[in-house]
Amino acid sequence: VESRTATEPVREATFKSLNNPYFLGENPGLTQSTGWVGAWESEPSVYAIEAESTGDVVAGVNFAREHNLRLAVRGGGHSYQGTSNAPDSLLIWTRKMHEVQLHDGFVAEGCEGHMTPQPAVSVDAGAMWIQAYDAVSVKAGRYVQGGGCTTVGVAGLVQSGGFGSFSKNFGTAAGSLLEAEVVTADGEVRIANERTNPDLFWGLKGGGGGSLGVVTRLTLKTHELPTFFGAVNGEIKASSDEAYKRLILQFVRFCRESLLNPHWGEKAEFHSENVLKLSLVFQGYDQKEAAAVVQPFFDWVRAQNGLTLTNQLVAAIPARIFWDGKVMRNIPGAMVGDDRPGAPLENVLWAGDKDQAGVYWNGYESLWLPDSLLKPENEERLAEAIFRTTRHWSAEFHLNKGLGGAPSQAIELARNTATNPAVLDAFALVIIAGGQPAAYTGVPGHEPNRAMGRRGAGEIAAAMAELTELVPEPGAYVSESNYFQPSWQRAFWGTNYERLSAVKRKYDPDGLFIVRHGVGSEDWSADGFEPL
Ligand SMILES: Cc1cc2nc3c(=O)[nH]c(=O)nc-3n(C[C@H](O)[C@H](O)[C@H](O)COP(=O)(O)OP(=O)(O)OC[C@H]3O[C@@H](n4cnc5c(N)ncnc54)[C@H](O)[C@@H]3O)c2cc1C
Repeated sequence: VESRTATEPVREATFKSLNNPYFLGENPGLTQSTGWVGAWESEPSVYAIEAESTGDVVAGVNFAREHNLRLAVRGGGHSYQGTSNAPDSLLIWTRKMHEVQLHDGFVAEGCEGHMTPQPAVSVDAGAMWIQAYDAVSVKAGRYVQGGGCTTVGVAGLVQSGGFGSFSKNFGTAAGSLLEAEVVTADGEVRIANERTNPDLFWGLKGGGGGSLGVVTRLTLKTHELPTFFGAVNGEIKASSDEAYKRLILQFVRFCRESLLNPHWGEKAEFHSENVLKLSLVFQGYDQKEAAAVVQPFFDWVRAQNGLTLTNQLVAAIPARIFWDGKVMRNIPGAMVGDDRPGAPLENVLWAGDKDQAGVYWNGYESLWLPDSLLKPENEERLAEAIFRTTRHWSAEFHLNKGLGGAPSQAIELARNTATNPAVLDAFALVIIAGGQPAAYTGVPGHEPNRAMGRRGAGEIAAAMAELTELVPEPGAYVSESNYFQPSWQRAFWGTNYERLSAVKRKYDPDGLFIVRHGVGSEDWSADGFEPL
């Protein structure tokens, strides 16, 4: 707001800070995305409650309900759709609630005698995943399923469903949830687990953030930490469309034969400039074992006319240091630190996530692709569609965001969540997106470029249409999806939407918690002020 009247040096310094997710996250008036063309723009709430306890949250919920206020809830502030941002609202901001507590033998409340005590971690709702990873993996040598991006909020991600780099083995974050403490619209502090308020528990697992109440604490299963985590990189440039088509088909086969299993995750990017960029991760292999899996694919590439492979890497590190900011910030290309003077060394993010801070989005689409598309009889159809997609825009295939090839236990846990069942047999979530640097309407030199944004959105939509054609019942990941998603109830939750609506009606009958395209939002005006 001040930037609109600030001197140029002050304004430019402020905008430079918008590239830092920690700066964004620590300011209740800012969000990780600055907006979206024709959709929303980041705007501070009128007042914010900096909650430090469940009691503060109860007071905030009661105050908002009694005074009939528009209420917004923010944790990590990473919503692409701006669902933690509501102009003219009261904000409950949980950033200060970030305690992490490990348990050797956790039993959920009311589940005594029905649940085997198990290793778990309780995380307060405002924590970022890096705080959970630091406590669970770096300090205690265990594994918890969270998100890939270090600065995403714990509560927002679990309610999204939630994928991390190794979800192909450990499942969704929501699948690992054992218990939540949540303040519902009536101001009650409720415990939700398999036996206590089980309907609310199910809804919180993937039903979307900001719709059912304010979560104050989550308890998640922890798992044995693998010995190594590793990465496979490679960039393959094709010199012609024909060579690129051959490469895409070969990658589809490689995916079916070698990557559709719990070891692999992260992404393959198909670029419009006829480039395939691999940024894969693995677990459950050492460096040699992983290299043996990928070598035949790289050998095939090298033997082809018209394909050039660069930046090839297969590396593994002890899993214990994977989220150790003090170590990983010194490995070139791995993590980067919070660049503010005096910032804690633990404040780190993956180098590849840096470009996302402050983005003003032009367009964003996601789609789960069923693993049946990898079958030999479908592989050519899929490869051709991928090529056509790239004529419009580049596409990222996130292998870790689909559970096709995951262990049956991970699939069953995800089946028992509100997440769209399309995730269960998807080999990947495709994301096609584009944006522009941080922008605010009315700030000289930093206005959004709307014309460019609209053109980009059109191309992104055209790109995704090529793949959507292959899927009879297209599903999109609620938290990484189009602000203007058509048939959003079906796309985000599939056959689970009716059950989720019933949970919403029971726990928030008057619509205190309304977010863009959240459960029950069809009953409200777009700004969340007027019941329809
Ligand atoms: C850079 C970036 C990287 C991402 N990486 C991943 C990834 O690797 N895997 C993945 O699955 N997703 C990823 N996402 C998507 C992310 O998981 C979702 O946007 C998630 O909802 C963000 O949670 P948050 O707390 O950070 O955001 P917020 O914007 O604070 O919250 C998101 C939603 O949850 C609600 N909410 C927040 N806290 C609470 C609470 N305590 N109680 C109730 N509702 C609450 C908000 O009201 C809002 O509707 C990424 C997003 C970004 C911007």
